[in-house]
Amino acid sequence: MNAEIIAIGSEMLTHTRVDTNSLFLTEKLNGLGIEVVAKHVIGDDRARLTEAIRRALKDSRFLLISGGLGPTEDDLTRDAVAAALGREQIFNEEICAGIEQRFIAMNRKMPEINKRQAMVIEGARILSNDRGTAPGQWIEDGENIVMLLPGPPHEMKSMFTRECLPALAAIVPPSAIRTQIYRISGMSESDLDATIAPIYKPYENPVTTVLAHNGDLQVHLRARCATEEEAAALLAEVGGRIEEALGDRIYSKTEDPLETVVGQRLRERGETLAVAESATGGGLAERITSIPGSSDYFLGGFITYAMALKIKLLGVPEEILDEFGAVSEETAKAMAEGTRARLGSTYALAITGNAGPGTDGPQAPAGMMFVALASPDGTVVMHRQWPSDRARVRAFAGQMALDMLLKKLRGIVSHRIISS
Ligand code: ATP
Repeated sequence: MNAEIIAIGSEMLTHTRVDTNSLFLTEKLNGLGIEVVAKHVIGDDRARLTEAIRRALKDSRFLLISGGLGPTEDDLTRDAVAAALGREQIFNEEICAGIEQRFIAMNRKMPEINKRQAMVIEGARILSNDRGTAPGQWIEDGENIVMLLPGPPHEMKSMFTRECLPALAAIVPPSAIRTQIYRISGMSESDLDATIAPIYKPYENPVTTVLAHNGDLQVHLRARCATEEEAAALLAEVGGRIEEALGDRIYSKTEDPLETVVGQRLRERGETLAVAESATGGGLAERITSIPGSSDYFLGGFITYAMALKIKLLGVPEEILDEFGAVSEETAKAMAEGTRARLGSTYALAITGNAGPGTDGPQAPAGMMFVALASPDGTVVMHRQWPSDRARVRAFAGQMALDMLLKKLRGIVSHRIISS
């Protein structure tokens, strides 16, 4: 069973407003087993709106429209829906009296234009608005159901929850939706998809989504079945094969991010971590300390941009900086080892590089980053050159650092080690 959502209002097409109503509605509809197949944002244009409503009703059983129920001329939702369905609008005395009462309660006289809000599409059921003046409408048209909801989120949410959810639940056959999330690090989005697409592609159910953000990948499987047991079995079938294909590249089967999983491991082992950051300027430490309780295992670190600080605070030998430069495997290694020695941590991560956009000589092109991990049994260094913008390069480097540490904690040998 499919639904479409239309957010109405020219202001929703400006850079100052975001359609958040559809996010709420999608979550609720999915919870009932209704799939949202399209969302639209349409300005206050009668013809465009009418056409969009007609088209949506051809493709989808449910249409939810939010906004444009106000009293002014540019509030066109009622007119457009009536036109699309070929129905009349009828003035409803009772609604008008209710709106008038709200004005009286505020010690005001109802303006004449508010009468527009008492126009009801033929055959509609009124949806009460306990937070504002505009009532909603529920219209059945053959198999189709159209819901007219107010734009302000607090009004829309209350109306939808009280009036529409129970009615939809009575129509839609009971179904169970279960989700399985995998978080993956240390591989590219295209490698991930090439590995798992042959597994998930043949299945329409569960629905599989691959998400990528700054080197952190997620695979979401959403199974919809008649019962919880069937949904769980379907997830186990497809998820099991994905787990087998990805092996230890999956770092989390919950929503926990890398920094949480790393922290859990360090805490379990009673080990500690320190960092030295050049190109990321504290971004790695920020991620680590965003987890409550990180002081159990995170000692602290250094932000060393200047050569002099790398020497003074981290003990990087001057000759290494002279010979190899700040953006080098040797410097990264010395930074990590110096940090570990000076702070007495079990592990130390160090990042040095050129986040760009400008190049810094042939040895330090934009996007070149070195990450070192010093541990009780030696130091490993990895390097990558990312073509992305500055913010993304910095985020990628932090991700790589945490990924290296987690692999170490899980006893996984990384394939891109260039120094040990
Ligand atoms: P009102 O009677 O309050 O005018 P309405 O149904 O006509 O109700 P709109 O005028 O379309 O609602 O929207 C009022 C405000 O609600 C918008 O300015 C915006 O701030 C918010 N709003 C409208 N639609 C959305 C949406 N899809 N997502 C988030 N906010 C919205």
